[in-house]
Amino acid sequence: MMTREDCAALDAADPLASLRARFDLPDGVIYLDGNSLGACPRAALERVRQVVADEWGFDLIRSWNQAGWFQMPLRLGDMLAPLIGAVAGEVAVTDSTSVNLFKVLAAALQMQATTARRTIVSERANFPSDLYIAEGLTAWLDRGYRLRLVDSPEELPAAIDADTAVVMLTHVNYRSGYLHDMAALTAHAHAQGALTIWDLAHSAGALEVDLHAAKADFAVGCTYKYFNGGPGAPAFIWVPQRHQHAFSQPLAGWWAHAAPFAMAPGFTAGDGIRRALCGTQPVVSLALVECGLTIFGETDMRRIRHKSLALSDLFIQLIDACPAQHGLTVATPRQAERRGSHVSVAHADGQAVMRALIARNVIGDFRAPQLMRFGFTPLYTRFVDVWDAVDILKNILDDAAYDVDHGVPPSSTEVT
Ligand SMILES: *Cc1c(COP(=O)(O)O)cnc(C)c1O
Repeated sequence: MMTREDCAALDAADPLASLRARFDLPDGVIYLDGNSLGACPRAALERVRQVVADEWGFDLIRSWNQAGWFQMPLRLGDMLAPLIGAVAGEVAVTDSTSVNLFKVLAAALQMQATTARRTIVSERANFPSDLYIAEGLTAWLDRGYRLRLVDSPEELPAAIDADTAVVMLTHVNYRSGYLHDMAALTAHAHAQGALTIWDLAHSAGALEVDLHAAKADFAVGCTYKYFNGGPGAPAFIWVPQRHQHAFSQPLAGWWAHAAPFAMAPGFTAGDGIRRALCGTQPVVSLALVECGLTIFGETDMRRIRHKSLALSDLFIQLIDACPAQHGLTVATPRQAERRGSHVSVAHADGQAVMRALIARNVIGDFRAPQLMRFGFTPLYTRFVDVWDAVDILKNILDDAAYDVDHGVPPSSTEVT
């Protein structure tokens, strides 16, 4: 069994250990919720000061060109591209994940419009917002599209058939941590004539994503989770070169125009990924995304994935070693190739136990009815953090030191 000393030795030998210093983390806090809101890069405060005081306060409107504000969505997209197996000119950092999903789904349905295909295949367990967007778009289009939702990943291949227009999946499930085989599902979808959309919210920045190797059609994802872009930071959208010409989305505003400053009557789509944009972006938030992405430039996704699996393997091993009366069950797949970078643990009083953990400065989160989620973010999580977190959890359960609010419906205000 691993001891705390063993964990300290792993930290001492960890090639990513020095990157923890790039983050501003409060003393005494074990932060295991970076899968929901990434930690704050140390560079962020100075960058905000620069954007607000110098670029906005002093240079004023000149900063749209001088400070490169206007170019930021595509420039940051180029920075992000290699982290998801994309190339320059294919990614924009813009709008929210939900909005970007709307754009790619609308574009994909448009590309299939001349076929008789009318189903969008997804999972009932997908992130609700993704399903709401699909429901909203299909109802609004009123062209007979319907959602076909499966109850487990194993049912996907059979559900993808000659009627499937689009397969819309989240690569790593936000609750269970289940990781889909993107390449295999995409190959199967293509063999059936369907297009694929991948939501990378819980995989981008957490593991090696290779969109081109998987031959995926479209992708969207978050920057405020594993990429540490800050609360509500703009999301990303990926359209591969091979689809850019056919890509047309209904939220294309003036930033997507071929000549945005001509202010011409009538819309003419710009080239490349520019056509995925809509309008003016939150510059201060966008600027912070760069602080997070810069840290990724100091390592690579292979190393990050390696440490992520080592951290989560350690966590699973320590949870498994807890006595049966603690009532903990690992709900995330144990095989490395089937899980992302968070591990969910079921407990009958999961919400109360998580509250007790947070009161002791171990921050994870809770998803009703009984899942406690623990996210392992290799850039700033140490092996001793994992050990200490499980030790504190054991103490709470040994002493039953948590209060269950009977009659209070489980709820969660945390963002996923
Ligand atoms: C976090 C998350 C989102 C976030 O969407 P927003 O538009 O930023 O609120 C979308 N999809 C998935 C799967 C997520 O986990």
